[in-house]
Amino acid sequence: PSPNDPPYLRGLNDPQREAVLTAEGPVLVLAGAGTGKTAALTARLAHLVATRRAWPSEILAVTFTNKAAREMRERVGRMIGEAVEGMPWLGTFHAIAAKMLRRHAELVGLQSNFTILDTDDQLRLLKQLIQAEGIDEKRWPARQLGGLIDQWKNKGLTPEDVGAGESEGYANGKGQKLYAAYQARLRQVNACDFGDLLLHVLTILKRHRDVLESYQQRFKYIMVDEYQDTNSSQYLWLRLLAQTRKNICCVGDDDQSIYSWRGAEVANILRFEKDFPGAKIIRLEQNYRSTPHILGAASGVIAENGNRLGKTLWTEVDVGEKVRVVGVWDGPEEARRVGEEIEAIERAGGSLDGVAILVRAQHQTREFEDRFIQIGLPYRIVGGFRFYERAEIRDALAYLRLVNQPSDDLAFERIVNVPKRGLGDKALEKLHRLARAEGIPLALAAARILDTDEMTPQARRSLGAFVGDLARWRDRAAQLPHAELARQILDESGYTAMLQAERTAESAGRLENLSELARAMEEYETLGAFLEHVSLVMDNEAQAQARKVTIMTIHAAKGLEFDTVFLAGWEEGLFPSQRALDEGGLNSLEEERRLAYVAITRARRRCTILHAANRRIYGQWTSSIPSRFVGELPPEHVEEESSMGGGASLWRANWSERADPFANVGRGAGRGPGWQRAQSSGQFNREPVRIVEARASAVSLGNKGRDDMAVGLRVFHQKFGYGVVAEIEGNKLEIDFETSGRKRVMDSFVSLA
Ligand code: ATP
Ligand code: MG
Repeated sequence: PSPNDPPYLRGLNDPQREAVLTAEGPVLVLAGAGTGKTAALTARLAHLVATRRAWPSEILAVTFTNKAAREMRERVGRMIGEAVEGMPWLGTFHAIAAKMLRRHAELVGLQSNFTILDTDDQLRLLKQLIQAEGIDEKRWPARQLGGLIDQWKNKGLTPEDVGAGESEGYANGKGQKLYAAYQARLRQVNACDFGDLLLHVLTILKRHRDVLESYQQRFKYIMVDEYQDTNSSQYLWLRLLAQTRKNICCVGDDDQSIYSWRGAEVANILRFEKDFPGAKIIRLEQNYRSTPHILGAASGVIAENGNRLGKTLWTEVDVGEKVRVVGVWDGPEEARRVGEEIEAIERAGGSLDGVAILVRAQHQTREFEDRFIQIGLPYRIVGGFRFYERAEIRDALAYLRLVNQPSDDLAFERIVNVPKRGLGDKALEKLHRLARAEGIPLALAAARILDTDEMTPQARRSLGAFVGDLARWRDRAAQLPHAELARQILDESGYTAMLQAERTAESAGRLENLSELARAMEEYETLGAFLEHVSLVMDNEAQAQARKVTIMTIHAAKGLEFDTVFLAGWEEGLFPSQRALDEGGLNSLEEERRLAYVAITRARRRCTILHAANRRIYGQWTSSIPSRFVGELPPEHVEEESSMGGGASLWRANWSERADPFANVGRGAGRGPGWQRAQSSGQFNREPVRIVEARASAVSLGNKGRDDMAVGLRVFHQKFGYGVVAEIEGNKLEIDFETSGRKRVMDSFVSLA
């Protein structure tokens, strides 16, 4: 480093500088989490522009998300002290490919204004084709075909490239034929799906030398972040474009490859050296993100994977706290604990923006959302819908609302044809007309119209069945626990069956969300109370708050960092996921372990891993055992805590007791001391004693409401400060706050001022 260094080089270490300054020739930066790969790539971009090696429009730079692309653009601007206008080729693979395809659409039989289909459109189209082929769609769902086609596209295979044997998996070998028909149909309607963006561009580059050459000329430099998660068609595309100049710089970490289910192939890292002989391999070993304990914990876990390139990591960051492993009694306690700790961080002056809760599965966000609403802790859900806003949850809620309140026309409209009941637009129109004419709700109009001859026999039958269902569910609502009622409604309406028939990872996720919904309901005394809670939750987003805690999946957190990270639900079956366990096999388990590595390495200062002893699954309390990954954390980097009886190390003991067929899968030879401790520890205490929470203010009083409250009283709320009670409804208060206006809050978080 010299004092004359341009700003973009300042502070970079030697190997990072090398990655920035080696502009010509192939470069592969292979390094662990937080070592400044993205930082180096950004500086490299600044260097190329600042030294006029290339115009911004002559650099192809691939990021994993649109947000990452935006950030990179801003940073480069700051580094070279001028706004970088026109970096048209900085973006995700999809964004860049879409741009190319619009320029050459006619070469693959499309017009440049083609539409990009979403999954729903895609499925509708596939269904039509499946029916036209006379294939039983129940047996061979459209989603399955969609998944298969995506896989082919990820591999860069057009219908002509698909081998005879590869099509067996669907409808006795008809997959390839349907793929061809689907592509033809897409062309007819001037559309393409996501997978097509890359595949079409690849086809164009392969078939049209002139086009390929013009891009090879244009892109003087190519760079790729998160390289370990590129799939084959992306790789082939990069290789074609980089073929002549060979100025390509890829950065990645084989231990962070977490998208193999979407076709990503770590093998691309190994291929790089072969395809670009003489490539300079740069390794970064200094981590600038995390404390030694966090790094030690992450390294200990990933060391158990057999299949890796291996690397060294060190840090000069202050030693800081050990990674905490916290055992809690159940899911609600997990959320309560995390909520309290975040409030403590806030009281100590920390920013909510620096806090993240990372989960393995989307449905895990619900418990946290509910809790944070209760205590008024602002949060954002990244990379996915907030729990109660997901389509399947809204559908289920619509059923429940309709049972609770027959005049809820919006709910009626939402689900009258979900799942499909064969009620066409005509039939629904008649229903609406009757309802309007008589001034009655749709559900009632539906019952009345059955007495007329306005409906076709088919519409009459299905509407009759639906009206009968609704009446039956309403009768049962009085006797059944409402969570059970919800399950029955979802089953009897055919909703569950509809999702089951899809047989995809996505529909499995939706089913999990629905059982999570039933679980959430169990905490409320009546259906009405639950629905009210939901409307409260949904309303919350209206209050825009700048500072928020982030809740997201580990997948969505890739490349990001936070001061404080909570990793929730580290239990067998949740993480590693049941699906990974069921599939068995080394690969899926190793991928879960890479996820664990990504998760821990998001933390800068503090990392807390939680596991609950009990989870409610399908209404049953099931005792769960801590994730094997907990057992793999090196004890010297970990501090254990438990709110249950017994002491530390129970979870290790517990692990050694299990006769688990995968216990040794993927474990490297150098098994950590944690494992040995597990072998020698004592009995697992199966009936832990619950320690009651210390903080009274966090304990909800249920539905009773407080008798010390009255309209007009001045009160204090932890989050919103002072205010005056305007209305009381059970345990909920409408309060006019002095600084933040009127809000609805739970009374248990309010004290008399
Ligand atoms: P991941 O594998 O998670 O994507 P990464 O290797 O891309 O991580 P970066 O996100 O680039 O790592 O950097 C991690 C942190 O370290 C960032 O906060 C970054 O600003 C900082 N950093 C990177 N290089 C240096 C450096 N030379 N000196 C000081 N801080 C640095
Ligand atoms: Mg990065």
